[in-house]
Formats: sequence, structure tokens, C-alpha cells
Amino acid sequence: MADTDHHHDHDDTPCESALQELYLYLDGELTPQKRSIIKSHLDDCNPCFEAFDFEAELRIVISKHCRDEVPDSLRERVARELEAIDERPAEA
Ligand SMILES: [Zn+2]
Repeated sequence: MADTDHHHDHDDTPCESALQELYLYLDGELTPQKRSIIKSHLDDCNPCFEAFDFEAELRIVISKHCRDEVPDSLRERVARELEAIDERPAEA
């Protein structure tokens, strides 16, 4: 029962917190130190790496879309929907 080849034995960053930090990483809010901790976790941990890749691509797509033009019709629709939420009577 020597299941000691668990890859986390040399890496004390649990996947969950690594993934949480990923969001900060993508937002550029991490210190360089934390960034390198996450990077080394990603090197070791394929599931996290794939999650990172997905999130990174998502961010790139979103930021590209936002920098392009947002059609007025979409902007109006969003604004109207936000107003509708606002005007909805609160459940008493
Ligand atoms: Zn992981």
C-alpha cells in the first residue's frame, strides 16, 4: 500500500486553491511570487493546467469582444434588462 507517488508530495498547493488563485492570476492581481507558485503547480498538475488554459482562452475571447464594438442594440437590451430587474417588486 505504497501510494506515495501522489504528485502533491512536493507541492503543497491544493488544486482548489490553485484554481481560485487562477482567477486572480488572469486578472493580473497576483504578486509575482504567487504567480510562480501557481505556475509550478500547473506544470505538475494537468487538470489544473487544462482549467487554466480554458479560463485563459475565455478571458482572451471576452476581452477581445469587449474591445471590439458592443452593438448599441445589445447595450440597450442589457440596460433594459437591468432596469427590469430593478423595477421588479421585491417579494414581500
Ligand atoms: Zn492541481
